[in-house]
This record gives sequence, C-alpha cells and structure tokens, in this order.
Amino acid sequence: MDNLLTRLGDALVHGSLSDEQLLADTGRDPVLPILPDANVIKIGGQSFIDRGRAAVFPLIDEVVANLGRHKMILGTGAGTRARHAYSVGLDLGMPTGVLSVLGTFVSMQNARMLNYLLAKHGIPFIEPAQFAQLPLYLAERGAVIFFGMPPYIYWHTNPKVGRIPPHRTDTGCYLVSEVLGTRSMIYVKDEKGLYTADPKKDKNARFIPKITVAELKQMDLADVVVERSVLDLMENAQHRRSIQVINGLEPGNLTRALEGEHVGTIITADGEGA
Ligand code: ADP
Ligand code: MG
Repeated sequence: MDNLLTRLGDALVHGSLSDEQLLADTGRDPVLPILPDANVIKIGGQSFIDRGRAAVFPLIDEVVANLGRHKMILGTGAGTRARHAYSVGLDLGMPTGVLSVLGTFVSMQNARMLNYLLAKHGIPFIEPAQFAQLPLYLAERGAVIFFGMPPYIYWHTNPKVGRIPPHRTDTGCYLVSEVLGTRSMIYVKDEKGLYTADPKKDKNARFIPKITVAELKQMDLADVVVERSVLDLMENAQHRRSIQVINGLEPGNLTRALEGEHVGTIITADGEGA
C-alpha cells in the first residue's frame, strides 16, 4: 500500500489540510496550461455592447477577420441593464447571491446577441456546463462565446461593503483565462486603457500604458478600469499574470492585441509568479 502513494499523496491522505507546509507542497509541481493558444476576450457591457451597432458591428467584423488566425474565447459583460436589475433587486431586499443571479442573466442576454451575430460563422454560445466541449469548438470553429459572470449565483460571498456582487464579468473572464492557462486576457472597453482617474469624469486624467498590481494598489485610485477583484486575484495567479485593456472602438486594436502588440494598458502581477 505504501508505495502506491507518493510522499505528497501520503501526506495528503493522512495529514491535515490546514497544515501550511503540506499546503505549500501542493504548489510545487507546475500547473498544466490547458489551452495555451487560446485568448480570452471580454467584451464590455456598459462600455461596449450597450453602445449598440456602432460599437459592436465593427468589432464583430474584426473577430471574423481573426478566425483561423487566433483562437478566441469571447466573454460578455452585463452593463446598464444589470445595474437597473440590481437597483430593483436591492429595493426589493434581494441578497448578494440573488443579485449575482440577475447579473448572470443580463450577461447571458449579451452573449446570446453576439451568438446570433456570429451564428453564420458557426460560433457557438456555451454555458458553464458546456465548458468541457470548449476545446472541440475552438479546434473546429476557432471561437466560442460565453457569459462573463462567474457562476457563483447564490454561493457568491457577501462583499465587505454593501450588497453588489464584487465578482462580476471582468472577474469571470479573468478566471477562465487563469484556469485554462490561455495566452492572453484582453478587455475590450471604450477607453484607451487605464488612466489616473475615470477619463469620462476627469479631463486631467493621465494615461498609464503599463503598471504592476502593487503599483496600482499603491496609487489608491478612486476608480479603475477593471473590477478590483481581478487585481486581487492576479496576486495569486498561476498563469494569467498580465491583463490588457484596449479601446475596442478603434478598429484594429483587437487585432493588434491578439498579435501581441502593446496597445492600451498592460497590468502585470508582481514578481516571478508560479
Ligand atoms: P464593462 O462595460 O467592461 O463592465 P465598465 O464600464 O465597468 O466596463 O468599466 C470601464 C469604464 O471604467 C470606462 O468606460 C471608464 O469610463 C471607467 N473608468 C473608471 N475609472 C477609470 C480609470 N482609472 N481609467 C480608465 N477608465 C476608468
Ligand atoms: Mg464593469
């Protein structure tokens, strides 16, 4: 029996899962990059899809032009309709877990619409239960669409402040990129990237082309361009140690990001990582 188990296996079977040393040992072997050639692309809700055809149609054309050249896992934001749903839900006394359900359905609406726009190219919409088929769809068609909300729904933890679920579509897309070990995580929004303040509200906001998570946290900005939980998750990232935020309203930016060019802002995790 003894030799059936590795030393780590023996420690895991018989030891305590709160033992710090044992937990550290579980991180020793490298994590498998499952889909290292794929790119996760989050298409903003409020910042992008809510702008309708003027924003969405040219981006769809750019996605189609990249089929066969880059594998794309397209996640959707929720946006203004989710904020409305949150406000009604809050008024009716709904807890965070239920607000997470509401946001999920709005990001699903956006994913469904992109799905119909890309239908003639054979691009499927997948729900979390279908992620096991994702490799096949990517190999066959080169892209899939999913809803960006992480499917925590009722099981979403409460935030420290208030009741809005802090893990929304930026976070859901980030986690797909991290767990699958993809080649990139690209956020398509309506601003050049990260600024020192929301450029829509502050004319003096300065553009930041590159920054680390620690530097960004140190700056303690009043508002940032991605959900703060993405920055928190990046601190413990195994694979996805950088994210890129681009202005999808400028044609060509998505293609340039897919080609590995530095357009927009690149935010990196600190240090060497796993
Ligand atoms: P999404 O639609 O992808 O969820 P959001 O609308 O939540 O995107 O976030 C993107 C928006 O964040 C931008 O349109 C911008 O107006 C705003 N924003 C807030 N703070 C910043 C900042 N420091 N730098 C850049 N944009 C910011
Ligand atoms: Mg958002």
